[in-house]
Amino acid sequence: MVAACHTRYLVRPATADDLQYSGKVEIRSTNSIPCFDSKAYIPRPEDLKLRPMRLVKVNIHFMQNPDSVENYAGSAAIQYAHDLVDAINHDLETNAAMNLPVGNETPVLPTGYRIELDTDHPNIFEHPDRDLYFYVHRGANANLYSKDVTRKYAVHADSVINIFLMPHHPDSIRSKSYMNGATGITLGYSIKVAGLYESGNPAYYFSGVTNHEIGHALGLSHAWQGDPCDDTPNHPNCWENTGVPPCDGPISNNLMDYNPFQKAITPCQLGIVHRNLSRISSVRRKLLVPNWCALDTSRNLTIADTVIWDHEQDVTGNITIQPSGYLDIRCRTGMAKGAMISILPGGILYMDGGYLHNSCGEEWQGIRILTDNKGNTGQIFTSDEGLLQDMMWKMD
Ligand SMILES: [Zn+2]
Repeated sequence: MVAACHTRYLVRPATADDLQYSGKVEIRSTNSIPCFDSKAYIPRPEDLKLRPMRLVKVNIHFMQNPDSVENYAGSAAIQYAHDLVDAINHDLETNAAMNLPVGNETPVLPTGYRIELDTDHPNIFEHPDRDLYFYVHRGANANLYSKDVTRKYAVHADSVINIFLMPHHPDSIRSKSYMNGATGITLGYSIKVAGLYESGNPAYYFSGVTNHEIGHALGLSHAWQGDPCDDTPNHPNCWENTGVPPCDGPISNNLMDYNPFQKAITPCQLGIVHRNLSRISSVRRKLLVPNWCALDTSRNLTIADTVIWDHEQDVTGNITIQPSGYLDIRCRTGMAKGAMISILPGGILYMDGGYLHNSCGEEWQGIRILTDNKGNTGQIFTSDEGLLQDMMWKMD
């Protein structure tokens, strides 16, 4: 029989006396704003284990001509809305490898975000409106930039992406030169998409164009020229290979180019999206289902070596810093309600310009220090004051 050998620790909540001041740190970010560099937000597999999937809330509106059938209605509209959400999430789940540049080895990362019909409120709407139901993207009566329809019908417009599915105007469709294919535009957090019903095609044909507009709403720009990403090369933005220069080569499949695929999102683009959804000061964070507030012990995290958090994030499990562990927090880190950080003897928590808090108006448990019978203890170093907020275990 093997005798179990337990190390005995003295366990106590950390107090203000545990904070060892390490001196003010310089802001390291390459940008002047700390924790703003989108490269730090490129999702790594270990980050995706720390927090639940980012869920972006959407509403879907079907604009109706009261005088004739020009859009899905009733149960067909409800089914179409769900099919479109499913198709977009399928694309986000099966992020594709980039076509360009030829021979690229750009990593194909899990996107770490999905869309969800707003579960707290009605989320699928029909609006019969003779004046506002249609979309005209070319010509004297073009209304694609008009916000009249979004102003009138968007619901919870600052915290939900409102997607308007609109018919092309019948007069436009009668014109031979008018392109009545799928097209869209993003106006703030509202999206207008046209051409779905008249095509007769199922929703998954339009996941790309809709997801492209959602990409704009989440802060992405067009990728073919002049976006901030090194992994989205400049190219002529050809819809297809026509055999005639400049469209005589492989065409892009990036989400933020114009092409029939719109399936590939690069690491740099994902970094921008996740920065915009993670920073506490970002207005886009309101678009998320706040699924990081409750403690989820299946996401408990053990720090056994050096880990640097140079991006804002929301952790949903407890954190244990092992004797060999060194956790260096340089940016805002959200802790779930009741969550705890345990620092074993020899383990170090370094609050290196960052802070720990609860972003849901609740309290996290706080930090507990473990000391062994030789007097070795967990340690906290800080570079500034006011770094530990919203704790049940007050430090003074
Ligand atoms: Zn666009």
